[in-house]
Amino acid sequence: MTKIQDDILSYREMCDSENKQTLQRGMNFRLNPSYSVILMSQRSNAPYKDKIYDDGITIEYEGHDISRKGYNHNPKAEDQPVKLPSGKLTQNGLFIKSINSYKSGISKSEIVKVYEKIMDGVWSLKGYFELIDYKIVDDGKRNVFRFILRLSSSQDINLTNDEIIIQHTRLIPSEVKKEVFKRDRGRCVICGEIKNLHFDHELPFSKGGTSLTTKNVRLLCMKHNLEKSAKIE
Ligand SMILES: [Zn+2]
Repeated sequence: MTKIQDDILSYREMCDSENKQTLQRGMNFRLNPSYSVILMSQRSNAPYKDKIYDDGITIEYEGHDISRKGYNHNPKAEDQPVKLPSGKLTQNGLFIKSINSYKSGISKSEIVKVYEKIMDGVWSLKGYFELIDYKIVDDGKRNVFRFILRLSSSQDINLTNDEIIIQHTRLIPSEVKKEVFKRDRGRCVICGEIKNLHFDHELPFSKGGTSLTTKNVRLLCMKHNLEKSAKIE
């Protein structure tokens, strides 16, 4: 089933929707012929994770460390690499190459599908983004990459014509999603369903509702979410 922005998925459902047995890496350049996939997950010791800009549609995503495999240094003390010792580009390198190509007008921006981990076994589709820029930041110990992704104006890349297209709204911070999921006990607030859940803005952004507090966000099942969308239109 096609997933839309702010849908909730189990790890299995997430892998299934990408036709993969497992998804182990955070950054997956061109996982699919038409897009890349990023998994965001909040590590407790990282204050800048999941940074959403004030425009409500742009996120910053940190690049990846040098692989721990066969490596007896601390990856957290090393600059994030663009290349492997073999000269092959790392995921950072592949993303940067694509940004440079976009910025010099050679290609369109890479489409990146972003999933976020809400808690163990609970994931949510943050949406489809355009990979538009990156910067190199000194985090106090070393240089890291921060990738800049802007929510794409089309969130219907996988949708076929007969499916309902729901307009994207502003991004809900992962922390807000986590609190809402706990508060609503992983159930639709109307019928108690536990499958095919979605984070819903009670008052839509277009009508002045906010994504930034738990008060305006709730869990709805697919049925109740579609019923609501039908009413708004
Ligand atoms: Zn329901």
